[in-house]
Amino acid sequence: MKDIKRKTVADILAHGAELAGQEVDVKGWVRTRRGNKNVQFVALNDGSTINNLQIVFDLSKFSDEQLRPVTTGSSIHVQGLLVASQGKGQSVEVQADELQIYGTANPEEYPLQKKGHSLEFLRDKAHLRQRTNTFSAVLRIRHALAFAIHKFFNDKGFYYFHTPLITASDCEGAGAQFQVTTLDLNDVPRTEDGKVDYNNDFFGRQTSLTVSGQLEGELGATALGCIYTFGPTFRAENSNTPRHLSEFWMIEPEMAFYEIEDNMDLAEEFIKYCISYALEHCADDIAFLADHFDKELPERLRFVVENDFVRLPYTEGVRILEESGKKFEFPVYWGVDLASEHERFLVEEHFKKPVILTDYPKEIKAFYMKLNDDGKTVRAMDVLFPKIGEIIGGSQREENLDKLQARIDELGLTGMEWYLDTRRFGTVPHSGFGLGFERLVLFVTGMQNIRDVIPFPRFPKNCEF
Ligand code: ATP
Ligand code: MN
Repeated sequence: MKDIKRKTVADILAHGAELAGQEVDVKGWVRTRRGNKNVQFVALNDGSTINNLQIVFDLSKFSDEQLRPVTTGSSIHVQGLLVASQGKGQSVEVQADELQIYGTANPEEYPLQKKGHSLEFLRDKAHLRQRTNTFSAVLRIRHALAFAIHKFFNDKGFYYFHTPLITASDCEGAGAQFQVTTLDLNDVPRTEDGKVDYNNDFFGRQTSLTVSGQLEGELGATALGCIYTFGPTFRAENSNTPRHLSEFWMIEPEMAFYEIEDNMDLAEEFIKYCISYALEHCADDIAFLADHFDKELPERLRFVVENDFVRLPYTEGVRILEESGKKFEFPVYWGVDLASEHERFLVEEHFKKPVILTDYPKEIKAFYMKLNDDGKTVRAMDVLFPKIGEIIGGSQREENLDKLQARIDELGLTGMEWYLDTRRFGTVPHSGFGLGFERLVLFVTGMQNIRDVIPFPRFPKNCEF
C-alpha cells in the first residue's frame, strides 16, 4: 500500500470532479459485487453517505483467489485511480491497484445477503441492521436531528440542563415506572407489617427510572431562565403500539416567563426548524427513504414547514369529532382522553395540517398544569401530527403555590416539597413541553414503526442486543 491519505466515500463523491485523475485511498464494507470474467464491480460503503463508491477490479490485475473474500459485508481497503465512470448510476469510480482485506463475511453465514429484507426480519437482526441502506439513512437523519435540536436551543440562549435518570419521585405522573433496586429479589427484606423494607435498598428508599425530566427541569428554569433537557426516559407501560417504546429520548424545554402562547410559538418554531434542518442536510437520505418507502415524504415535510399549525381548544376539537359523523373505535365526549384515531382525524382528515390542541379538562392532565378561569380546563397544549398523533405534550405550569398545593392534596401526592419550593420562593409564570425524539425521527424518516428509528429498541418482552 502506498502512503496516501484516506478519504471517505462521501468526500470522494462530493469532490469527484476535482479528484478525478488522482490516486485515492478508501476503506469500507462491500455492499455488492457483480461482474464477469474480465472485470468485477464492487459497491463500497463506509457509512459516510447513502451512496456507494464503485470499485472496479480488472481481472488481469487481480486473481479470483485474491477477490474470493470480497463478498457482501466484508471490509476492505483499496487504493487506485479515480476516473470518470462509463457506467450509469455514478459519476466516478476507482480503478483498483491495491487491495487489502480487513475482515471476511462468509456468505453462508452473513445474514444480510440480499437487498430488500423486510423490516421485521431486520428487527431480529438489530445488531447488524445499521449496515443496510435503510437503517443507515434513518440513523444519519437521527443524528442530524439531535444536532439540530442542540443548535436550535443553543442559538436561542437556552442551557442544556441534565436531569437525573434515577428518581425517587413517583408523581411525574406520565407513565408506569421501572423500579431500580439492588435488593435480592429472592430474599426481600420486609418490615414488620410485611411490606418491602426499602431502608435496606441502595438509596435507602424506593427508586425508579425517570419517565420525564420536567419537574427537575422547572428547578433549572427558575434559576437559569430557559433550559432544555435531552436524555433517555423510561416507561413501563405495556403499549405494544408502533408509537411507543419502553426506553425513548425526550427533549423538554422549560422557560421562565413564558405563557401558553409563547410556549406554542416556541414548539411550532422548534419543530419547523428541525424538519428544515433535516431537509437541508439529509437530502440524499430522505430521497432514498422516499424512493423506497414513502413517495410523499418530502412533500409532507415541506408542507409542515411552510404552513401554520392550527390552534384549537380541546372543547372545539371534541365538538368537531362529535359532529363528524365518523364511526370511531373509541367513543368521543367532553372529558375523554382523545385516542390516536381522534387526533389523527382532526389532523389528517379535518384540518389537513398539524394541530395544537389546548385547554384540556384538568382531570385528564397532570397536576402541575395551570388552571384556567373556568375552573375546569388547564393550559395544556398537545401538538398533533399527521401519521403520528401526539408528538409534543406541554403546558403552562401552575405558578400559584396555594392552587398547586390544593391540586396536590386533592390527588394525594406526597414528597413534593422540593418541587413546591419553586413556587414558595420567587415563583414566576413558566411553561414547557416534551417532544418524544423518536416520534420526530419517525415523522422525518416516514418510517411506520418507532422500533425502526432507534438503534436498539426496547419494548415489552424484548431487550436483546
Ligand atoms: P401518548 O398519549 O402518545 O402515550 P403521553 O401523553 O404519554 O403520550 P407525554 O407524557 O406528554 O406523552 O410525553 C411527551 C412526549 O413524549 C409525547 O408527546 C410523545 O412524543 C413522547 N412519548 C410519550 N410516551 C412515549 C413512548 N412510550 N415512546 C416514545 N415516545 C413517547
Ligand atoms: Mn403515554
